[in-house]
Amino acid sequence: MDKEKIILTADRPTGRLHIGHYVGSLKQRVELQNSGIYEKVFIMIADAQALTDNAENPEKVRQNVIEVALDYLACGLDPKKSIIFIQSQIPELCELAFYYMNLVTVSRLQRNPTVKTEIQMRNFETSIPVGFFTYPISQASDITAFRATTVPVGEDQEPMLEQTREIVRKFNAIYGDTLVEPEILLPDNAACLRLPGIDGKSKMSKSLNNCIYLSETTEDLKKKVMSMYTDPNHLRVEDPGSIVGNTVFTYLDAFSKAEHFERYLPDYANLDELKMHYQRGGLGDVKVKKFLNAIMQEELEPIRNKRKEFEKDVPAIYEMLQKGCFIARETAAYTLNNVRKAMKINYFDDQELIKEQVKRFSQK
Ligand code: ATP
Ligand code: MG
Repeated sequence: MDKEKIILTADRPTGRLHIGHYVGSLKQRVELQNSGIYEKVFIMIADAQALTDNAENPEKVRQNVIEVALDYLACGLDPKKSIIFIQSQIPELCELAFYYMNLVTVSRLQRNPTVKTEIQMRNFETSIPVGFFTYPISQASDITAFRATTVPVGEDQEPMLEQTREIVRKFNAIYGDTLVEPEILLPDNAACLRLPGIDGKSKMSKSLNNCIYLSETTEDLKKKVMSMYTDPNHLRVEDPGSIVGNTVFTYLDAFSKAEHFERYLPDYANLDELKMHYQRGGLGDVKVKKFLNAIMQEELEPIRNKRKEFEKDVPAIYEMLQKGCFIARETAAYTLNNVRKAMKINYFDDQELIKEQVKRFSQK
């Protein structure tokens, strides 16, 4: 029989979700959820992880839990099909992380390229909180606790998945086959692997303040698109422009479809033609940005409207989350039980142990 396929993925409640989350993971999650080929889909709001670099700002994390939940529902995650829950409510995850810490060296954690960049971004170089430094281990417990086979995420999560796989292999080699080794599931579209920020910086990230949020108003969305980073040397319309590192074109790579050209720019058959014209010269940034704005408005409007509907019944959302936590906790407890057994720390539910000891002492 096929192994049960299970999804786990998460977001940090450090702000509302942005279009980087959407193309990097969220959109795919909704498709996977609706595909029916997964036994279970776990979606976690990683508040405990968010606290690793926001320890002094608990209110920010608390406020954003509901924001993230609203964005999930607005994008089509459905609590009837997915288990949506909050990390801190599953204490089993901490215990797993505590045991996994024995299987990872400090130098291995220091080599993690994503954590390295994040340490720099947060000016943590001289004083890294231990919790932040070890968050890849905590992520390994999140993934393994739910026996996830599949983790749909953006490219920045590759080192985390590799770390998890190493922990799983080491754990299973020492303690016997207990944990499931997960696979990363990256978006197919290269532009979606790591969507840049509107400032042209390599990653759209809440911490960098360069985001287009899913719940952006029509006006703010337009303002942001019109202010986006393009080719700084493309000064006059007639100048040839570069599309490499040109954020507007990266977003078109991520979002535009043939039908958008038919609807808004019928003079061009496809994105390649538009790119060629830009590179040749004679195509202004404003025209391209207006096209992108039309596409983004079309993509985000239904999400924005659905969110407004869900905002009308906030207590129902907390109730949904609480139910999700209950189911998630049962699953994590089951895994933890297996882990304790494999690690031989299940003293009180192991009758064999007592028998063995009785025998050992009676032989003395
Ligand atoms: P923070 O700055 O607080 O770390 P973030 O914007 O990086 O926030 P996360 O909550 O860390 O967001 O990431 C959640 C998920 O979204 C992960 O799967 C991550 O790979 C994906 N993701 C985040 N930003 C991008 C992006 N710019 N492009 C593609 N995927 C992204
Ligand atoms: Mg992040």
